[in-house]
Amino acid sequence: MEDQVNRRSWPPRSAYLHIPFCHRRCFYCDFAVVPLGDHADGANSGSIAGYLELLLGEIAAAPAGPPLATVYVGGGTPSMLTPAQVGSLLAALGTHFGLAPGAEISLEMDPASFDGPRLAGYLAAGVNRVSLGGQSFDDAVLARLGRRHRSTDLLQAASWLHQARQGGDLASWSLDLIQGLPEQGLAAWRQQLAQAVALAPPHLSIYDLIIEPGTVFAWRQGRGELELPDADLGADLMELTAQTLQAAGYGHYEISNFALPGHASRHNRVYWSGAGWWGFGLGATSAPWGQRLARPRTRAAYAEWLAESHPASRGTQAPGLPFDERLLVGLRRREGVRLADLAGQAGVTSAELGDLLGRWQPFRERGLLLQEGPRWRLSDPEGLALSNGVLRELVAWWEERTAG
Ligand code: SF4
Repeated sequence: MEDQVNRRSWPPRSAYLHIPFCHRRCFYCDFAVVPLGDHADGANSGSIAGYLELLLGEIAAAPAGPPLATVYVGGGTPSMLTPAQVGSLLAALGTHFGLAPGAEISLEMDPASFDGPRLAGYLAAGVNRVSLGGQSFDDAVLARLGRRHRSTDLLQAASWLHQARQGGDLASWSLDLIQGLPEQGLAAWRQQLAQAVALAPPHLSIYDLIIEPGTVFAWRQGRGELELPDADLGADLMELTAQTLQAAGYGHYEISNFALPGHASRHNRVYWSGAGWWGFGLGATSAPWGQRLARPRTRAAYAEWLAESHPASRGTQAPGLPFDERLLVGLRRREGVRLADLAGQAGVTSAELGDLLGRWQPFRERGLLLQEGPRWRLSDPEGLALSNGVLRELVAWWEERTAG
């Protein structure tokens, strides 16, 4: 417990940079995104250049901190930036904080937004891990998602990444896929997983489709035009994912994440561990000392926020992430959480904890939630695949507690 308390007061050693630009907005996406059209690029876009100036200013005005062990450039579509632009961001972080030897530096990239020389440019600028937004190998599905790339783009991008790995320039890369899509059955998903395994990415992130308000998908759902998998099929899809990938040698280290040995994302672990991180850019969330701070999601509001705020106000207090959030992220990890320690730190009484455990009893009886000494975790694969019920009870319990 003492170790966890001390860790929360350490300054962050990780940074997230948000690049909000995309060519077009995908039909399911509600991220903080600025669509610039199919031909926009960091080399020809004044919007991108102007935004990078704001971002560099925010980095320069941040409080001091120790060298960074992980950096994640996400979006949006960060591969719309030129290698020189990515290099200037990494140089700014290096000047302000320093980059620790062996730091993991990840860049999100979309197929069809880069080629081999451009990838080589990013790697020369310091990137050593790529997260590739593949989403599907099926062209009809990609079109229905509103994606710009097609499966040949994905296969070509993967081949460049493999070459870079073989050349020793790229430490690791990850492929994103979406499961639980409209009309997706077990046979179609099995085929997608087989193609993913054949492609042999060192890391896979498999996300469930979530229908977010305000998206094209939400509108279509409202009109009864989306046939989504029901809860039983959704659970079967997740179980198939876990079984297929584990049989192929991938460790299931978090609900949505699978990695070959040595390829788990160090940056992801920072979010899930409760350790703090810097965040920079429009819509980005930071939690430098555990205090979460979300930035405005439009460019004008972000610029105004930057002009008004002072580095000292950006989270030097340490109230810590709320208990429910720490428990939610902890339970998503394969190793689970030390429940009593977390509760003690958050001032949750044993009677309140007893109430939560009562709500969880049905899941314990079904073997989905396990207690191993002081540690609580979801069983693998059933508990991780059917985690929604456990997490829903947690959220409901916390809402009632805080309302009362
Ligand atoms: S590419 Fe990613 S961030 Fe951009 S619109 Fe599509 S899903 Fe959203």
